[in-house]
Amino acid sequence: MPVEQITEIADLRREARRWLAETEIPTVPLELEERFNVLRRWQRTLFDGGWMGLGWSREAGGRGLTARHQQVFSEELARAHAPAPIGLIGLDVVGPSIHRYGSPEQRSRFLPPLLVGEDIWCQGFSEPSAGSDLASLRTRALRHGDKYVVNGQKVWTSWGNQASWCALLCRTDPDAEPKHAGISYLIVDMSSPGITVRPLVQMTGDAEFCEVFFDNVEVPVGNLVGKENDGWRIALDTLSQERGNYAMRRQVEIGWGVEKTIDGLRGASLESTTNRRISTAIGESHVALRVLDAQIRRTVQRLIDEVGPHPLDSIDKLVLNDAEQVVGRALVDLLGPFRLDAESQPLGLNAAQLIHDHYFSRAASIYGGTSQIQRNIVAERLLGLPRSR
Ligand SMILES: Cc1cc2nc3c(=O)[nH]c(=O)nc-3n(C[C@H](O)[C@H](O)[C@H](O)COP(=O)(O)OP(=O)(O)OC[C@H]3O[C@@H](n4cnc5c(N)ncnc54)[C@H](O)[C@@H]3O)c2cc1C
Repeated sequence: MPVEQITEIADLRREARRWLAETEIPTVPLELEERFNVLRRWQRTLFDGGWMGLGWSREAGGRGLTARHQQVFSEELARAHAPAPIGLIGLDVVGPSIHRYGSPEQRSRFLPPLLVGEDIWCQGFSEPSAGSDLASLRTRALRHGDKYVVNGQKVWTSWGNQASWCALLCRTDPDAEPKHAGISYLIVDMSSPGITVRPLVQMTGDAEFCEVFFDNVEVPVGNLVGKENDGWRIALDTLSQERGNYAMRRQVEIGWGVEKTIDGLRGASLESTTNRRISTAIGESHVALRVLDAQIRRTVQRLIDEVGPHPLDSIDKLVLNDAEQVVGRALVDLLGPFRLDAESQPLGLNAAQLIHDHYFSRAASIYGGTSQIQRNIVAERLLGLPRSR
């Protein structure tokens, strides 16, 4: 990295520390609706402070810096025990693809309100019969003049009930061969007539993802991202953001969660069995986080070099899955028998939060493409092994 960039990054780190020290950091409630509102206000505060979209162009409302600057700010957020903003699907997953493939009008119309947290986005990819085999999706968009008319169903759509916009993958050419050649990427206004959203309750108790039904929903042709029938390429970019960018942010958040929990235990007088549990939790979490850290350093360089979707993103996703699940389980194990009682506070630990985070960590090997699918990608595309089918 050139010397001027190192100095610039050190300056940004100082600026971030100063700003965070002077800013009131919100406490994040466990209840979903309250959590959503607190984090949305926090995103506005971050935006007003000039901390959203560090790596995005100025045209999109960002600061025109790099992925490394973004990573440094995430590190400082974690260091200040401050939460991430709410709109992560827009910020880390869909937004970067619109930034890369959208028209100048789409960038300036959709991206600034996304950064502020005014607009929450959802990702309408998975369907009841098209998850891992995403290219089999059946939601149709037929062109009528200057509109597409969309019919079909999506499922597991995170924040579908809160989102104002959806990045929708749909079939615009039913006869295309191979099937991914007939798919387009549309931006859909979630308040359009004909959309029905039904929240689904997860094992955490939150109803964070939804079924979304489209019944003759009209979408202006101007909301097509890229070209008609070229949506698969953009979808791969979105999925790769979900694997790389998201891993980068989560790495610092998980590390902070471990530190905060262990800090809370300092000074407590502990029995030897509890001590053993703590040593195991610290040891297991530390190893998982160090592996993730080593992996993420390579990812940041790929993001700076704007390499685009790469099979290495699947390794990020696999390493992140492990860290989420190893740490989630290690911390909940600290509760010992009290893990059966979410209302308890053994050793001052917040059982409800640890149990919630542990349950949510189980989803890490599913969302963004399952671990089995990531292993297939690594086997076929990095190791050159024969295709699974
Ligand atoms: C918390 C959460 C949030 C989500 N948010 C969103 C969202 O916002 N938007 C969205 O579009 N989707 C979202 N998803 C959906 C997610 O992307 C899918 O669940 C995932 O891609 C798997 O698809 P599926 O559930 O249809 O499982 P299936 O594809 O039916 O897979 C079932 C099992 O079979 C295995 N399998 C399938 N094919 C193969 C193969 N070729 N080789 C080996 N094993 C295979 C899978 O690994 C899995 O274990 C979310 C999921 C979760 C859990």
